[in-house]
Amino acid sequence: MTQPTLIWFRQDLRLSDHAALTAAAAKGPVVAVYILDDETPGAWKMGAASRWWLHQSLAALNTKIPLIFRRGRADDVLTQILVETKAGALHFTRDYAPWSGALEQRVKAICDKAGVACHRHGGFLLHEPEAIRNGSGEPYKVYTPYSRACFAAGEPRPLKPVPKFESWSGAVASETLSDWKLLPTKPDWSQGMAQAWQPGESKAQNLLHCFLDEALQNYADGRDRPDKPFTSKLSAHLHFGEISPLQIWHATRLAMARAGGALDRSGEKFLKEVLWREFSYHLLHHFPHFPDQPFKPEYADFPWAHDEEALKTWQQGKTGYPIVDAGMRELWHTGIMHNRVRMIAASFLIKDLLVPWQEGEKWFWDTLVDADIGANSASWQWVAGCGADASPYYRIFNPVLQGQKFDPNGDYVRKWVPELNAVPTEFVHCPWQMPVPPKSYPKPMVEHAAARDKALEAFKKIKKAEH
Ligand SMILES: Cc1cc2nc3c(=O)[nH]c(=O)nc-3n(C[C@H](O)[C@H](O)[C@H](O)COP(=O)(O)OP(=O)(O)OC[C@H]3O[C@@H](n4cnc5c(N)ncnc54)[C@H](O)[C@@H]3O)c2cc1C
Repeated sequence: MTQPTLIWFRQDLRLSDHAALTAAAAKGPVVAVYILDDETPGAWKMGAASRWWLHQSLAALNTKIPLIFRRGRADDVLTQILVETKAGALHFTRDYAPWSGALEQRVKAICDKAGVACHRHGGFLLHEPEAIRNGSGEPYKVYTPYSRACFAAGEPRPLKPVPKFESWSGAVASETLSDWKLLPTKPDWSQGMAQAWQPGESKAQNLLHCFLDEALQNYADGRDRPDKPFTSKLSAHLHFGEISPLQIWHATRLAMARAGGALDRSGEKFLKEVLWREFSYHLLHHFPHFPDQPFKPEYADFPWAHDEEALKTWQQGKTGYPIVDAGMRELWHTGIMHNRVRMIAASFLIKDLLVPWQEGEKWFWDTLVDADIGANSASWQWVAGCGADASPYYRIFNPVLQGQKFDPNGDYVRKWVPELNAVPTEFVHCPWQMPVPPKSYPKPMVEHAAARDKALEAFKKIKKAEH
């Protein structure tokens, strides 16, 4: 029997523009494996919403390439599969989580010991984090010069088509997806997600092309409006690698070229957002403590309020601030929240309630379908003011003004907070100001102006300590 080549699928659940699969398929028959790894030391276990997505995404991929499903520490499982299949080579896509570098080194050592060729490929990012450096050869800590350096690095490599591949005919033990119990049972909270999403490569491609045809033109001016469908909704597809950032980049460039300049402003803005994702991984690679510890160390001493009740009220979307509550309820129901509302809800937790940003980060990790170790940690630190290139500490979102500005008719709030359906638009972001506020909706849990003053006092202490 021909010796197979092993392809280890990770956050690259697609067939097109897949450097590792293309290289593996060129060698002869392939064994494609996905490992559910809840055991690698130090690794963050996937949250519940991500597990729901993973189930659907693997089921979709499995219809295109037969997958071997195994559970356990990835390095142990790969060792076993190499023995079982006597594979001559292993190919996989690089991952950038803080625990992945050591894991990949262990996998390489296992392959070296077994005399198996080990090949690591890029594809999750446009630019390897080591490839973009400032004039002194250091990593960037500020987004704008980083993004300029990315644009100056030139166009990324051309796309790779779906390779022709042959699956190995030998027997390899596999579990089934249902063995893994990735889907919730009692209670089944996933109906809202099932209505909102169709994971998988084909849907990701459709979504990209619909976005470019119908919404990109509104992106520059409308991307901050949670009441409008003007963003791509590609983040979870990107996180799971159902689409590559290169595919997004090249398709956007093509759409811009075809529009003869009409899409240039929105196209550039969209590509810059894709570069925020790259920047978060640039930071994570060079500063691997990002998910747990503040990038600015003085924030470790911040006088946080460890208030379980306040955290729970925020999680349940019952703060009494409509735009915050709408976002938190959208998140619970669909596994997603619009970027502008993420910023408002995160600011409210950190700055109005003084709850540590890590608590919000953990909640998002469990409930977002796009929960991503790079983007989530960098974004929470950005809002808290303790990250690289972070929002200044004195920038405290006013949830009423933000709501009025970005959801001017209250459509987004009314969709997710039905208690406010009948409230006139002038009060929809501040219902407590009505002569008779609706009884079914809670009063604000804190008064924003007073909470803001308290936060500024606390943040000022940190700033003094910094100098
Ligand atoms: C507190 C907080 C937590 C966040 N957690 C995550 C997370 O876990 N996973 C995640 O993918 N994004 C996260 N974001 C970033 C952003 O909110 C989402 O990427 C965006 O809302 C996804 O919607 P979209 O695909 O329609 O975005 P678009 O506006 O269409 O943007 C295109 C792509 O660019 C990337 N992108 C856009 N904005 C950002 C950003 N600020 N940082 C990093 N990448 C960005 C995403 O991959 C996105 O799909 C977070 C933001 C905040 C404020």
